[in-house]
Parts: sequence; structure tokens; C-alpha cells
Amino acid sequence: MSNRRIETAIRGPQAYELARRALEQMQAAGVWPTPLNFELWLHYVGDPQGALGQEIERLLSNRQPFSEAAAEDLAARYLSLTRLSDEICDAGAVLNRELSTVSQVIADAQSSQKAYGETLAVASNQIETAEAADGLASVVRSLSAATEKVGGETAALERRLEDSVQEVSRLRAHLELVRRDAMTDALTSLANRKAFDETLEQACAEAGRSGAPLTLAVIDIDHFKRFNDTWGHQTGDQVIRYVASVLGRIAKVPRTAARYGGEEFALIFPGETPEVVADALNQVCKEIASRQLRRRSTNHDLGTVTVSAGFASLRADEAPTALIERADQALYASKRGGRNRVTDARLLDGQQAA
Ligand code: GH3
Ligand code: MG
Ligand code: MG
Repeated sequence: MSNRRIETAIRGPQAYELARRALEQMQAAGVWPTPLNFELWLHYVGDPQGALGQEIERLLSNRQPFSEAAAEDLAARYLSLTRLSDEICDAGAVLNRELSTVSQVIADAQSSQKAYGETLAVASNQIETAEAADGLASVVRSLSAATEKVGGETAALERRLEDSVQEVSRLRAHLELVRRDAMTDALTSLANRKAFDETLEQACAEAGRSGAPLTLAVIDIDHFKRFNDTWGHQTGDQVIRYVASVLGRIAKVPRTAARYGGEEFALIFPGETPEVVADALNQVCKEIASRQLRRRSTNHDLGTVTVSAGFASLRADEAPTALIERADQALYASKRGGRNRVTDARLLDGQQAA
């Protein structure tokens, strides 16, 4: 079943059956009925063979608890794509309609030009055979009527073409918005995981060609589960937005800041050395740790949060996934080392060698 058909199915006669099956299966798998999990399970039950369904099966077969982070990750990877492809289908339908209008306009213009040409040919015959002024006058009258008719038709065709051109440019602007939406994380407005993957791939290829340095950092909020458990998910979201704003501020072009997963971020530093990156990240850690957080609605004191970071610079012929892996290991070294700190992946090489 396509995602579009699931959208239709949840408003059709099978809707409650589908929803019941989704809930039953969630309960059987010990998955909380959060709105996001429910949306994922509707797609799973509706289309177990689809990419999302298969991924959920794979996760369940690992017998690991289905975490919120896993749900967010699945939603980012599959649901936004679903929405995007639906939007693109809609845009495609409008575009098709406009294109067929344009072809119709051109066909109408051709047939009205042809009719006019025929009128002229007949008139020219009539002029050759016209004997009296009366005859000529009638030919001129019919010519002038035909000219007026074709003039009117041309103006109408021009208006229709103009409408089509406007519709197509409206569509283009809309598609640009959809494209930007599909690359943006809704909570933080940073680049999302998809945009990050693409940007990193391009940055690695570019660094490979030019030989310029490229550094990748991953940043994760410390003990965030505890924070959520104490203050609630919504306040947790505010903290994610706060951390994102600090990262967004230092991520001026050509840097890119992305929300990589739940409470995890990534920064791409094209052309920058590990030393410069270490400075920037230490600055970020210091700034976040020193900020006294307050709940927006009640001004309640929430204490502070800290973040940990790890970074690695691209090696010759290294794949983006290997670079991420090394930056991740540096991040985990920061966690193991006590959190609220920054680790350079080169340090781990040293430890392994020693
Ligand atoms: P560590 O210092 O080792 O990173 O500990 P942690 O508690 O931050 O790590 P863990 O990965 O165990 O938990 C991450 C938590 O982040 C789990 C989940 O409750 C929370 N989280 C993930 N995504 C979101 C989100 O979008 N909003 C909120 N409020 N919380 C989220
Ligand atoms: Mg964390
Ligand atoms: Mg984490």
C-alpha cells in the first residue's frame, strides 16, 4: 500500500480496523502509544512490506526497547519523505494540467491561424474574379471581419498563456518552499539529518578534490533523559531549541549546523583545522554550561545543562560514514571522561597506539 493510500485508508471504511490493529501491535511490542509512534505504526500496519515497515520489523526483531530517539529517527527518515513525495505528486498534477493548457493554447492558436490563412486564400481568389466594386467591397468586408476575429482570439490566447505562466511560477516558488522544508528540522530550524548527510557528502568530496581540511563535530546534550524526566518533554524541547540556537549562531557559512537526531547535533567545518574547531566547541560548551535556564511560561529555575562534543578531521580517501564514526567515538570519550567537554579524535588514535 502506498503512503498516499494509507492517508486515504485512515479516512475510509477500514480506518478503525487499521487503527485498532496498530494499537494492538504497539501494545504487543511494548511500544508507548505516543502520537508519533501511532503514526509510525499506522504506516507499518498499512504497509508491512514498505521501507518503513521493514525497518520497524528489523528494530523489533533486535528485541531492544523501541526508544523515542528511534521513533524520531524513523519519522525523520520516512515520514517527512512521505509528506514530501505527496507534495511533489500534487505539484506534478498541477504542472501537468498547466502543460496541457499550454499545449491546448498552442493548438488553438495554430488552428485559428490556419482558418485565417484559408480566409485569405479564398479572398485572394475572389479578388481575382471580382468584377465590380460591389464584389470587391464584400471581399474587403469579409477580410476585415476575419482579421478582427483572429485578433480577438490572439488576445484571448495571450491571456490564457499569461495565466499559465503565472501558475507555473507560483508552483516553482511552492516547490522551493517544500524543498527547503524537507531539508529543515521543524523543532530547531537547523538543517535536518537528510540535509546533513547531503552536505557532509559534498563537503567530503570537495575536500578530497582540493586537499583542504574538513572537520566534523558531533555534540550531544548531557543527561538529557534525566532533564526530560524531571521537567517534562516540552521543556526538554525548549532546551533542544536553545542548544540549537547557540550552534546556529556559530555556524556561519561555510559551516553547517544540523540536528542529527533527538538531542544530538552535528557541525561541519569545511576548510577549518582541528585547532580552530576545538576553540569554537570549547566556547560552545562554556556558554551553554554557564546559562541559567528558566521555564518560559513560569520563569521557574531549571538549573543548567551541559553538552559534550567530539570531533574528527577527514583523512585521505576517508568515507563520510567513517568520519562520522570517528567523531562519534570522540564524543563518547567526552562522555566517559565526565561530560561537558570536547575530545579530538586524534587523541584516541594516540591512546590506541599506546
Ligand atoms: P548522555 O549524557 O549519555 O547523552 O545521557 P542522555 O540521557 O542524554 O542520553 P540518552 O541517549 O540515554 O537519552 C537521550 C534522551 O533524549 C532520551 C529522550 O528522552 C530525549 N530526547 C530525544 N529526542 C528528544 C526530543 O526531540 N525532545 C525531547 N524533549 N527529548 C528528546
Ligand atoms: Mg545525551
Ligand atoms: Mg544522545
